[in-house]
Amino acid sequence: MRLKVESKKMSSVVENNFLTTKLSELVAWGRKNSLWPLPFGTACCAIEFMGAVDSVFDISRFGAELVRFSPRQADLLLVLGTINYKQAPVLKKVYEQMTEPKWVVAVGSCATCGGFYDNYSVLQGIDEVIPVDVYVPGCPPRPESILLAIVRLQEKICKEAVGEKPELYIYKPHSVRK
Ligand code: SF4
Repeated sequence: MRLKVESKKMSSVVENNFLTTKLSELVAWGRKNSLWPLPFGTACCAIEFMGAVDSVFDISRFGAELVRFSPRQADLLLVLGTINYKQAPVLKKVYEQMTEPKWVVAVGSCATCGGFYDNYSVLQGIDEVIPVDVYVPGCPPRPESILLAIVRLQEKICKEAVGEKPELYIYKPHSVRK
């Protein structure tokens, strides 16, 4: 009965009102609220991502809960851990196979700048092989930092849709050091 009354109310709201927007904004709204993440987890930061998707931090509140393990079904690549030179071509291939449009978040010091592995075998930042949209500093960054990165990325998606140039929200320590 209550349901019937509520649905009647809803139809009168729909009948008596209208909404205007731009198609690009509508598409961006859909994109930002339905991110499909692919976790490329190679080390400890992957555990932090597991924390971010659990029921305490609940990444689904941000519409990014559909974790995929196939690049063809994902549009958000989260790189979580150390990437060495041997893995770099694999990471690049995974990125290339993802659907367009696609975004990348470098989670933690290792993915951002090589972390404390300043040596011959470790890639000193994944942006040497693929473009990065948001950098998350920290070793390890807490799950809240990963959620913040999702929010920043959502803002970036919206800004790009209306032709604005988004600022770099999270600084890359590596670039400051150079
Ligand atoms: S940044 Fe720290 S916690 Fe993350 S993968 Fe590297 S060593 Fe592990």
